Amino acid sequence: MKVGLFGANGRMGRVLVEALDLSDDAQLSVATVRDDSPWVGLNVGELAGIGKKDVDCTALSDLSGNDADVMIDFTLPSVIESNLMWCVKNKMPVVIGTTGLNDSQLAALDEAAKHIPIVFAANYSVGVNLMLSLVRQAASVLGETADIEITEAHHRFKQDAPSGTAMAIGEAIADELGRDLKTCAVYGREGKEPERDQGTIGFATIRAGDIVGEHTALFADIGERLEITHKASSRLTFAKGAVHAAKWLYGKEPGLYSMVDVLDLKL
Ligand code: NAD
Repeated sequence: MKVGLFGANGRMGRVLVEALDLSDDAQLSVATVRDDSPWVGLNVGELAGIGKKDVDCTALSDLSGNDADVMIDFTLPSVIESNLMWCVKNKMPVVIGTTGLNDSQLAALDEAAKHIPIVFAANYSVGVNLMLSLVRQAASVLGETADIEITEAHHRFKQDAPSGTAMAIGEAIADELGRDLKTCAVYGREGKEPERDQGTIGFATIRAGDIVGEHTALFADIGERLEITHKASSRLTFAKGAVHAAKWLYGKEPGLYSMVDVLDLKL
């Protein structure tokens, strides 16, 4: 199976090159970079630090519909709509890992999924997707009495906050409790505040150094607290999950799929 990359020179793009190199049954066929990137024409294996490979970086505007069977996109929200338009025009299945999408970019995703199969997940690690199931279970038992707080930490370069994964954890808990996250979320606290409202779900964000990604869902009552934590120590875990999703997606009907579908998790 031929897999193409949008944004091959990003932090995730380079690790995706490595993950595809490690895969037995999916192979990197095209690695796109921005048209003005100094990497156009240079070897993608050298870019990823894994030695020379058969693929050189291609300018995004030179990408053709025959270059891949499935594309993978870990880029930026500002690029997502044009990448989706290209995929729809070329009937190209796509795995999307880009986070921090606004309502109109999410609407574009829904619209594109009427025409092509798409996997979209805020986090491609198996552990985080299992965590989404565990927090639902915790919320169903403790959610009405415990204070619920979600904390996350990432590297200093991350551009969206809270992380897409933290939001997905919040959505899962709110959904389980029949609450609307848009109205019950509290993002950060500062200065004098009234006593905590038990119906809220709090978020706190850390950005520091090279932290790959850490998430905790805290359910705290008087006398006890439960913490469910996931720590990613390598981006390869997200990249391998995305490659797994690409293989699963090939040949599927148009629609918007999640890692719950890919991993066949019973939530
Ligand atoms: P990065 O800044 O290192 O890479 C961004 C990529 O987008 C680069 O390749 C860049 O060249 C490309 N890009 C930017 N502007 C472009 C343009 N105008 N045209 C074409 N390409 C353009 O970021 P990163 O750390 O690799 O993360 C990328 C995304 O993936 C972020 O949204 C991040 O939050 C997300 N992410 C998701 C997961 C997951 O499991 N879903 C895991 C890690 C990161």
